[in-house]
Amino acid sequence: MRRVRRLDLPGRVQGYLTRKQTEVDSGADPGSIWERARRTKTMVTVFDVLVRMAGRRGRCMYCEDSRGTDIEHFRPKRAYRDLLFRWSNLLLVCTGCNRWYL
Ligand SMILES: [Zn+2]
Repeated sequence: MRRVRRLDLPGRVQGYLTRKQTEVDSGADPGSIWERARRTKTMVTVFDVLVRMAGRRGRCMYCEDSRGTDIEHFRPKRAYRDLLFRWSNLLLVCTGCNRWYL
């Protein structure tokens, strides 16, 4: 696993993550909230910041070999719903690693 320096998100994006986490913390279904959120332009910005953190070639933060294509939850979303939208829990990974670390 690669060590990265976490960049700050734009304020509106961090605000969005905080609001979504509050919905999950209030008992809303985390699966459906995540599925809806991941298709938003705001989450594209999250992805773009993760790519910037991954360096010039945008490598997967787990294997460092393949190109990062997916947003991964370092602490799995099923077990750690309290971290679902926490910026500190999101990583850029390749499709293979995203399947492997389910
Ligand atoms: Zn990988």
